[in-house]
Amino acid sequence: MIFRLSRRIGTFAVAAILALAAVALSATPAAAAGKAVYITFDDGPSIYTPKVLKVLSQYGVRATFFEVGQNVAAHPSLTSQVYRAGHSVQNHTWSHPDLRTLSAAQFAFQVNATDQQIRAHTGYRPCCLRPPYGAVNATVRALTAQLGKKLALWTVDPRDWSRPGASAIRWRVLSQVHPGSVVLLHDGGGDRSQTVEALSGILKTLKARGYTFPTWAR
Ligand SMILES: [Zn+2]
Repeated sequence: MIFRLSRRIGTFAVAAILALAAVALSATPAAAAGKAVYITFDDGPSIYTPKVLKVLSQYGVRATFFEVGQNVAAHPSLTSQVYRAGHSVQNHTWSHPDLRTLSAAQFAFQVNATDQQIRAHTGYRPCCLRPPYGAVNATVRALTAQLGKKLALWTVDPRDWSRPGASAIRWRVLSQVHPGSVVLLHDGGGDRSQTVEALSGILKTLKARGYTFPTWAR
């Protein structure tokens, strides 16, 4: 019995190792071919947005901007500038509430009013909603789907909004990023000079590592 069991475990272990080896072999070329990182900016547009656009254009990198509707209304020419530069503009609500605390009507207003502002200045209707604070529950998921939107979260958060210094922001991104990462940065919501300062070092290194920079839909 013990012998049979250990032989079974042995067979299973060999099968598992072979399976892992197959995954590793098949994953390598695919990862090399599709070595992409999504650079995203939240909470704009603001006076820092043109500075971000300048750095992105220096490196020929496209990004996705999750914009706050009331900021679009305050800086409409910045939203059209972002879009005309080839970036994706998506929905980050009207006034940045925790969506879990809203009624269905309030939720719909937050999304639809922002869509209308973005569409008015780009001609594009966002397909994606990034929930403020990444705050999601079953209701938020259901209401997002009802409004025909996809939820867009992130995988790498250097907490640039807390202003830890440009070199900390750069290091946090570069030490965590891997193919398929979605990097969260901010071009609005406060003083973003550290984010602007960190950006060129981030893009320079990621380009040197062979990354490409796709955007969300546009
Ligand atoms: Zn935000």
